[in-house]
Amino acid sequence: MTDKKEPKDWRLATKLVRGGLNRSEFGETSEALYLTSGFAYEEAETAASRFAGEEDGYTYTRLSNPTITMFEERMALLDNMPIAKATATGMAAVNAALMSQLHAGDRVVASKALFGSCRYIVDEILPQFGINVELVTGADNDAWAQALSTPAKAVFVETPANPTLDVVDLQYVCDLAHDAGATVVVDNVFATPILQRPADFGADVVVYSGTKHIDGQGRVMGGCVLCSEEFFEDHLNQFMRHTGPIISPFNAWVLLKGLETLDLRVEKMCANAAKIADFLADTGALTRVLYPGRPDHPQHKLAMKQMSAGGSIITMDVPGGREEAFKVVNALDIIDISNNLGDAKSLITHPASTTHRSLGEEARLELGITEATLRLSVGLEDADDLIEDLEQALGRRSS
Ligand SMILES: *Cc1c(COP(=O)(O)O)cnc(C)c1O
Repeated sequence: MTDKKEPKDWRLATKLVRGGLNRSEFGETSEALYLTSGFAYEEAETAASRFAGEEDGYTYTRLSNPTITMFEERMALLDNMPIAKATATGMAAVNAALMSQLHAGDRVVASKALFGSCRYIVDEILPQFGINVELVTGADNDAWAQALSTPAKAVFVETPANPTLDVVDLQYVCDLAHDAGATVVVDNVFATPILQRPADFGADVVVYSGTKHIDGQGRVMGGCVLCSEEFFEDHLNQFMRHTGPIISPFNAWVLLKGLETLDLRVEKMCANAAKIADFLADTGALTRVLYPGRPDHPQHKLAMKQMSAGGSIITMDVPGGREEAFKVVNALDIIDISNNLGDAKSLITHPASTTHRSLGEEARLELGITEATLRLSVGLEDADDLIEDLEQALGRRSS
């Protein structure tokens, strides 16, 4: 008889389908949805010992819930990290990962190229609490070396970044950060746990928006923070319990079902995106096409060292400005105008007027987000239909 394999030794696809599965007495095949806020106890002593932490068991869904636990265990397995805590949104995950560990007077170094709301936390919220933030160009290793020659408490990066697809050298930055005494938090939304596992390069904390590829069908909001036992006990656990950013059990259940097909969807999206990026680069109708999977991406080699494929997002500039960009977007028949991403449906957005509006023009231009920039999230439709849609929209613009 062979030894029974531990879930952590399963291959990725098996983890996605079976990780964290905890069947009830009924033996349901699909994960059970425990849509309950509270739990009843046989005896007052049971409640007392659970509250005292002397006995395992559920007490209140703000702290934990069996459906949420299944989602968290599955997420932890995917990233090879000990602890996962699910949150109501991706932003709640980013906020918890940072605010739970920071104190007045701490120093944070972050990459400039971040999702708009992540930049708001770093630019506006952290300084309100007396936390000093230094922003660096994520792709510039010398800038990281300079910034991390001074001790810091935390480093926060997003790679590839939204929407410019800048890549941060994770191994390099994690090594420097650890020497500077900092905990590295990586927003891994664009890459997903299928393409990139930041812990392999030294990241201490990984955050996700479950709203994006993990749901992947545009239904629910959710997020997740992954970390070590130590970070959980020292920082995250009490912060999560008492400030209440927990995910709804229903949303956790939807995300569990999303994870079952995450690998298949991400693979198809990447294949579609690679084909569409080649088409866009070859048309000559655009002034810039950015896709980490293409050799003309400024950090293609690094992207391919860290990620197993180029991802599902393409960023492009049309000739002209906002008016021309809006014309292209408005001429699309299949691709929807929407600021979400990672969805089965292909979605396009104009970052300067939507996701990155609050940054202001100066900060946007510094990141390379112009009035002519569009971000395309490639979905699961047939790539040739998407190419034909883009072709007619770009053609209509110029006619
Ligand atoms: C969408 C997104 C978030 C925030 O996730 P929500 O679920 O919308 O709160 C954070 N980081 C990145 C890179 C994102 O794309």
